[in-house]
Amino acid sequence: MTDKNSLMRQLPKVDEMMRSIALEGMDDVPAVLIKLACQKEIESERQRILSGGPYQFSQDDLIKRIKAEVEKQNQPHLRKVINATGIVLHTNLGRARLPQMVSETMEEISSSYSNLEYQLETGERGSRYEHVEQLLTFLTGSEAALVVNNNAAAVYLVLSTLAQGKEVIVSRGELVEIGGAFRVPEIMKASGCTLVEVGTTNKTHKRDYEEHITEHTGALLKVHTSNYKIIGFTEEVSLDQMKAVGEKHGLPLIYDLGSGLMVDLKAYGIGDEPTVRSCLEQGADLVCFSGDKLLGGPQAGIIVGSAEYIKQMKKNHLLRALRIDKLTLTALEYTLRQYLSPETAAERIPTLKMITEPLENLKEKADRFYRMLTEQPGVQYEVVETVGQIGGGTMPGVDLSSYGVGVTMEHVSADGLESMMRKNRVPIIARIWKDKVLLDVRTMSDQDLSEAAEFLNMAGRG
Ligand SMILES: *Cc1c(COP(=O)(O)O)cnc(C)c1O
Repeated sequence: MTDKNSLMRQLPKVDEMMRSIALEGMDDVPAVLIKLACQKEIESERQRILSGGPYQFSQDDLIKRIKAEVEKQNQPHLRKVINATGIVLHTNLGRARLPQMVSETMEEISSSYSNLEYQLETGERGSRYEHVEQLLTFLTGSEAALVVNNNAAAVYLVLSTLAQGKEVIVSRGELVEIGGAFRVPEIMKASGCTLVEVGTTNKTHKRDYEEHITEHTGALLKVHTSNYKIIGFTEEVSLDQMKAVGEKHGLPLIYDLGSGLMVDLKAYGIGDEPTVRSCLEQGADLVCFSGDKLLGGPQAGIIVGSAEYIKQMKKNHLLRALRIDKLTLTALEYTLRQYLSPETAAERIPTLKMITEPLENLKEKADRFYRMLTEQPGVQYEVVETVGQIGGGTMPGVDLSSYGVGVTMEHVSADGLESMMRKNRVPIIARIWKDKVLLDVRTMSDQDLSEAAEFLNMAGRG
């Protein structure tokens, strides 16, 4: 016991330690972060003494650990990572990457005043929703449009406005869960509607909808099964068939499309995802979709369709709680404007560019990455064919053939290397495949390639 006490007495006081650290060129670091790091590391020193093992105090080690802790705490918690997974819309990695030039507009709007809710023509109060409404109606062919915080909020607002206290008919094959938190039955409950499930998991017919319509019915809802596919003996009721049912009974037809595809990817030979415009043409009264999936913009929920229904939503007090913020609006308007020139949209919107990148370009990119890696004993690099995905719960079953570099290092296991990469200054997120760490180049920028090469060349030295 006395032994431990005397060891404890060797430990520096927090104040003393803070003075030593201050000498280490940490002038820009908030004092409170240095203090917390000193407290934390001195406390862990104390715990080591109490645990009773062999103990040797080293002031230098302690300073080193405190500095590392200060550096860790002094960097933003939300930061850039390198996506080497080949999954273009990775929900955990922030989904869509915005177009590069958007940052200039965002910087200006964020550091100045703007006409967010002000009409420059008349000097009167304006609406934030107007900034993108015309663009959206033009791009999708809809009568009106409204944007909110995300697509979950969009569906919630639509259901609450049009069908609160009423029944909403949905096919059993479309009761989806998306990314854990969004489940159709739950969102239905939250918006005060009663879910009426019709049909079976694999087959739903037009008559299933018709037979369940009563005086309590408020809407027909179709949900795009965007993150899975039912294959085999299946049948779903198309939008135009549902439209006929809705019209006959005066019910709105709502389509939760999930992903907001604005240009036809079928033209690139990728999947068979419907565009927003085609859903409206087929008869949906309202289509809801995300801003940060195939649209390639910021997190947002977009509602397009009938002017009458959208007018009702604009009057709903809920809208205030779901409203989109000005920086998101800035990014959304910028992204949407790129679609005014459809021939260059796929070049300028990173999500589309990455999805449509020709295979030979990816091979060339992987070869270039390979050449940036220096030969070292015990380290193996090889260019490999890979299969990536669009991700973000869109286009299941569509594989994106790609190229990447597989890495093995004798001195560290694939798991170990993957974990070191995650802890890099710029974290690199990669997959493990057949005992190799695999970096898919589809989702990596040129700068990412250099950064990853720098890391691997250093790690390869052991
Ligand atoms: C992704 C998705 C949602 C949720 O959208 P968020 O923008 O993430 O809120 C809802 N419905 C469908 C069909 C989706 O694919």
